[in-house]
Amino acid sequence: MRLRLMACAGLLAPFLALAQTQLDTDIAQVREVVRFVPDKALVQLQQMEPAARSATPLTRAEFLTQLSLTHRSLGRYKTALALADELYDYGRAQDNKIIIAKGLLTRAYVRSAMNERQVSHELAFEAEKLAGTTDDLVLRVQATITAGQSYAEQGNYPVALSRLQSAVELAHQIKDDNVPLASALNALTLLYTQMREYEKAWETLGETFEVSEALNSPGRMAIANNTEYGLAVDTGQYKRGMRALLSNLELVRKLGAQRMLATTLVNLSDVNLKLHEFPSALRYANEASAAARDANDEANEATARINAGQAYMATGKVAEGKKSFAQGMAYYEKTGDKPELQALLTEYGEALERVGDYQGAVEAYHRERKLSNEMFEAQRKKAMWELQEKYDTEKKKRQIEQLSHENQAKGAELTARRLQQRIWWLLAIVFAMAAVIVGMLYRKVRQANAQLEVKNLELKAQSSLDPLTSLYNRRHFQEYMRSHNQVERRGANGEDIVGALFLLDVDHFKHVNDTYGHAAGDSVLKMIAESLRVALRETDMIVRWGGEEFLAFLPAIPRNGVDEIARRILGCVSSQPVPFQEQNIYVNVSVGFAPFPLAPGGTPLPWERAVNLVDMALYLAKAHGRNRAYGVRGFTNFEKTSMEAIEQNLEQAWRTGFVDLTLVLGSTPDDPPPSNVVPLKSKSGN
Ligand code: GH3
Ligand code: MG
Ligand code: MG
Repeated sequence: MRLRLMACAGLLAPFLALAQTQLDTDIAQVREVVRFVPDKALVQLQQMEPAARSATPLTRAEFLTQLSLTHRSLGRYKTALALADELYDYGRAQDNKIIIAKGLLTRAYVRSAMNERQVSHELAFEAEKLAGTTDDLVLRVQATITAGQSYAEQGNYPVALSRLQSAVELAHQIKDDNVPLASALNALTLLYTQMREYEKAWETLGETFEVSEALNSPGRMAIANNTEYGLAVDTGQYKRGMRALLSNLELVRKLGAQRMLATTLVNLSDVNLKLHEFPSALRYANEASAAARDANDEANEATARINAGQAYMATGKVAEGKKSFAQGMAYYEKTGDKPELQALLTEYGEALERVGDYQGAVEAYHRERKLSNEMFEAQRKKAMWELQEKYDTEKKKRQIEQLSHENQAKGAELTARRLQQRIWWLLAIVFAMAAVIVGMLYRKVRQANAQLEVKNLELKAQSSLDPLTSLYNRRHFQEYMRSHNQVERRGANGEDIVGALFLLDVDHFKHVNDTYGHAAGDSVLKMIAESLRVALRETDMIVRWGGEEFLAFLPAIPRNGVDEIARRILGCVSSQPVPFQEQNIYVNVSVGFAPFPLAPGGTPLPWERAVNLVDMALYLAKAHGRNRAYGVRGFTNFEKTSMEAIEQNLEQAWRTGFVDLTLVLGSTPDDPPPSNVVPLKSKSGN
């Protein structure tokens, strides 16, 4: 059995390098032996410690790096890790990317040694990224190599290859130090070997040796020899592998590297077993066992025991062989390294079979099966547990998702409800405001309508009233008469109730105007209107017919009271003085009147013709001396004349005896008013 040489990141640690002060030189020398003789390195580093801890940041950082890696080589991982952390924290405090990257790398190396591969890889990638931002070429080469090896451990050979190739390129740029190049080439050789690119591996190994020999460093040479041994064994060149190991044996003895010595001896026993050189194999195995015990290296000791066991078996010393195997396997049982133990049991069983110890072989076989089952069971449980955990995690995730969906839905529902409520409120407010506005508008409209009605009434009144006298105007009377239906009826005493028309014209009014002025004339007109209102009834219609003409229509009076009304009209005007500039003005009126309707020959006259006839009577009053009233009482022998003829000349019609007239005389202020009405008889009528 050979000790497998992993592409261990720690191989590179030694060349973290820097400026050349004495202290730097000392540290650089130590770093070359840390891997091989860590106990010696530790003593040297402890001597440097006081000076190193107060040195410049980079020197101090390099010191911490080497101290951490030394403890790591001694298997003191806790201390190594604490130092790596200190380095990292120091970088942070200094805000120095180079130191931080070194801290990350050192952590990666310690974690790798602790078999925490995943953590180690993450640290290596982070270190590579950070180192790439600095101009420290040595650090960048180292970080790139470490990252490349991490990719290789993850089985990602293409990326690993490109990293290690670029590490070599980068290392070529460093002129004053070939250690980085030797490291990069060595790492690349190991990768080619792993990838079974043997031709490339041999070629690169050649370059590695070239650079390593030039460095004149026993440590470097030892590393290169180990690489050659691995490649030789993998390509079946055991003799070449043995030669590499033998030259390494010399080197490690010179260095006093106990651990390295044990490893080299173990590998020598292994390669001799492969070459069936059993006595040599046994010899090296026993030497390895002793060296390992000296170095306190249990793993190497166990491997040496097993190799010795193989050699014993092969030379027929079964009992010794069994004993040796048992001792070796005890270590793996103790560490619980079941896969290794399983491989060993297979080898052991085969060895027993070869020497004819079938019972022992079967026993080994059963143990191997049991272990295999245990491993399988453990794996099955682990897989089950992982699956269960995955299922639980996903279930929880689903539940959380569902809850969050529900929450979202509920949230949306709440929001919708809140919005809806808000909309309702808004609508209510809008409606309330609209109602208020409509109410206000409605009130305004009603007020406006009421005002309009008042105005309309006023307008209507204005349009039907005479502005000077406030009596009805002619137009209003016309309208009134259009709808007026005069009916004949009887009074309480059986008398005949009729309507009556009176038309008045002021006598010599022009003279009033001329003498006292137009305003005085207006005052006279107002006085007449007022006098008529007093003299007549509320129900009688008094109209300003023209300039100084008035019309009174009395809808219901006893037929024999008509003349009396005429007399009252004459009197009320003439008796009323109009005060003007400390004088009193007196006026008279002439009146024409008739009952209404008039029905000559039994046919009632339309009101216009009745008014026309009354106007003719008024003309008679004027013509016969003014201040008097002429009334048409009726018609006689109407069949012998016509209405037209009567209207043409009323006086003549009266004289001829076709019309019956009455005369009412007005009084003058000097004279007492006439006490009676004078009935006028036509000459022919009497
Ligand atoms: P007669 O007795 O023949 O009726 O004589 P008169 O002066 O009244 O003659 P007439 O009827 O021809 O004249 C009417 C005058 O009345 C003419 C006009 O200037 C006057 N008049 C008409 N309307 C008004 C008015 O509103 N105010 C005033 N102050 N005068 C008016
Ligand atoms: Mg007139
Ligand atoms: Mg007149």
